[in-house]
Amino acid sequence: MISIEVLLANKAGFCYGVKRAIDMALTAAREKKGNIYTLGPLIHNPQVVQDLAKQGVKEIKNLDEAAGGSVIIRSHGVGPEIFQQAKEKGLEIIDATCPFVARAQRAAHEMAEQGMPVYILGDPGHPEVQGILGWTLGKGIVVENADELSRVDHPKVGVVAQTTQPLANYRKLVEALEKQGVEVDARNTICHATGERQRAALELAQKVDVMVVLGGKNSANTKKLARICQETGTPTYHVESAQELREEWFHGHKILGLTAGASTPDAIIEEVKRRMKELDQMTNGEEGMNEAMEVKSPQPGELVKGVVVQVGMDEVLVDIGAKSEGVIPRKELAFYGVDNPQDIVKVGDEIECIVIKAEDNEGKIILSKERADAEKAWGGLEEAMENGTVIKGVVREVVKGGLLVDVGIRAFLPASLVERGYVEDLTKYLNQEIEVRVIELNKNRKKVVVSRKSVLEEQHARRREELLATLQEGQVVKGVVRRLTNFGAFADLGGLDGLLHISEMSWHRINHPQEVVKVGDELEVMVLKVDRENEKISLGLKQVLPNPWDNVEQKYPVGSVVPAKVVRLAPFGAFVQLEPGVEGLVHISHLADHHVEKPEDVVKEGDEVNVKVLSVDPAEKRIRLSIREVNSEGRPAREPRQRKLEEPAAQPQVTENPEEKVTLGDVFGDMFKEDK
Ligand code: SF4
Repeated sequence: MISIEVLLANKAGFCYGVKRAIDMALTAAREKKGNIYTLGPLIHNPQVVQDLAKQGVKEIKNLDEAAGGSVIIRSHGVGPEIFQQAKEKGLEIIDATCPFVARAQRAAHEMAEQGMPVYILGDPGHPEVQGILGWTLGKGIVVENADELSRVDHPKVGVVAQTTQPLANYRKLVEALEKQGVEVDARNTICHATGERQRAALELAQKVDVMVVLGGKNSANTKKLARICQETGTPTYHVESAQELREEWFHGHKILGLTAGASTPDAIIEEVKRRMKELDQMTNGEEGMNEAMEVKSPQPGELVKGVVVQVGMDEVLVDIGAKSEGVIPRKELAFYGVDNPQDIVKVGDEIECIVIKAEDNEGKIILSKERADAEKAWGGLEEAMENGTVIKGVVREVVKGGLLVDVGIRAFLPASLVERGYVEDLTKYLNQEIEVRVIELNKNRKKVVVSRKSVLEEQHARRREELLATLQEGQVVKGVVRRLTNFGAFADLGGLDGLLHISEMSWHRINHPQEVVKVGDELEVMVLKVDRENEKISLGLKQVLPNPWDNVEQKYPVGSVVPAKVVRLAPFGAFVQLEPGVEGLVHISHLADHHVEKPEDVVKEGDEVNVKVLSVDPAEKRIRLSIREVNSEGRPAREPRQRKLEEPAAQPQVTENPEEKVTLGDVFGDMFKEDK
């Protein structure tokens, strides 16, 4: 039998931005009442667009066609004028602009605001490029490549790229600009999903006999994929559906390649893959089929198909169309210990087995499901390893040094490759389905080694990139404290660490971050600054906590007497804390009802005292307080530490009446200010 393979390129199908846009459209269709429009087709795939239309998401060419409701901005994005028009028409905007496209728009806008001309590398007719151009305040210049550059007469220019541009094209443009002696602010806004997809398609096209590229014929992205494959010399066909495939394309070919543009759903990819295999078998497999029909009774080593007719505790009976039924002993059901065969097969299941013993004296044919599964799995595993595809498996056993994972065959997952970091207890993965990559295969030694870490690393890198592109200043996000230092804490925002500086942790003074947070704490924090260039995020915790100075006038009305704690002494008085983050000053003249030479003569740090509120200034964060007046009213107060016998010296004149002109700040000026 001729063996036929259809290899699917790694990174085929929906990209992050397209999937996000479709999810947003489907959510809108489910939840929103009234009309839902997309300005242009949501993605370059006619079937998906038709499906969306059936669910009430209608495509319009311009906003004049909208009769109220919501409009979805597709992943390509649009210029600010469209947002304005939609607003004027009273349309609700659902912005599905891909975060990577939005990054390019922001960069272009930022550079235009700085007054420089902005070169946009891309296809001038593409909606994404038109959208970016809209954000350049009239300073955008679209070029398709470096050859289109004319003399630049500005000392500094900006560069952004359409997200689908080849990196080499971008580099050439930047180099050409630099050669003219111009300062170039080059922002690489190319989306790596496109580059990876193109690289995977190129690698696959170099290996196969025929290449099929699946995706909308009007998609620039998919057309580019087809061109890249064609340039390898491999016959390449660009189709939109399985119906377009032709038998003659595959005649005489055994290894077929398939890739798909970013707008192609998985179901269509699967359908095309199946059809390619069928057509190839029709043109190349007749000889093999005839041979197969000549086989009369199953022989050892042969792969047979059958239907389960009985499931017992020790064996399973299978009708394989032979004179006798086949028997699968329990240990031949799977590579791991099976407690109950019902967990593996049920009556009526169609399964494949390998014959391990032809009909014996008792008329039994002994079969192995485990070996058939393993055999089947090898082909897929080889392909998965070659393409770096992520596969799923179930953890079956914890063994010395790692885990045994069922990926159709027994695979070893070393403990060091289970997580991105060290794992103490491996038993928690038992019976869990996990995603792994095959990193080593040896069919003769039946050895398969997999890594989960590599999948997690990639997901982590992806999340990091997405977070960097989407985080906004002022946004409140969740983070987990990973590390403390003397100057702050690093919190993981789900793929990216941000710095929570000690000064942004609390409204009151703290000496070390551990006074507020500890490793492992889950926090809500505010994004204070996003430095995308250097991948640095600044976070604030106090911004999401109540400010103790809010309502301070209500909490401490003038004239009230409240408890306080002495926290610091200065030559001119004592600072006392009313609550964490709120401190006030008891001026030396208000420390006692007699003359005080030095504050430490009557109070010390840590003393608990009662104070009377003389004035409150929330804007300047100043509160004036008095111990003297509490004492003079006969309220209990702390005894002075040491009474001085001398006569009181002349006191600075400090008014208690906020209406009067002379204030404590006037008397002690910057000393007070600095200390606060
Ligand atoms: S920028 Fe990248 S992720 Fe976003 S829609 Fe385009 S290809 Fe997809």
